[in-house]
Amino acid sequence: MVLKKFKTGRGHTVSLERRFYNYLYLTRSIGGDLSKIENVPEKLLIEMENFIKRNSLINPASFIDGSPVYYCCPKCLKAYSLQTIKKMSLGKEVKELIKELLICESGHNNYFIDDGNLRFLFVS
Ligand SMILES: [Zn+2]
Repeated sequence: MVLKKFKTGRGHTVSLERRFYNYLYLTRSIGGDLSKIENVPEKLLIEMENFIKRNSLINPASFIDGSPVYYCCPKCLKAYSLQTIKKMSLGKEVKELIKELLICESGHNNYFIDDGNLRFLFVS
């Protein structure tokens, strides 16, 4: 993956790879293409990042270069992401990106867990 500098909302410059350690972890485990993440809209990434943190199976799973790395169920993250895309009216291209990023099923038989609550997945 290419190291790319970018500005965060707080004005700090961090490497793309460093920011996406959480996704690196997830995509490695399921064979997804992390490079796709550069095209995912920022507002969706923030939602996904928060989902990963609040649903981390180990809190944090590990540290890389001093940054905490969180790991959640990729199937639940995919379900939540697809549902959030729908809520944000982000369109088909973004949906396809998430499907390439997270190569796994969406949720578990139309359900996913968010913050300990079982949610029904109303999109596919
Ligand atoms: Zn799950």
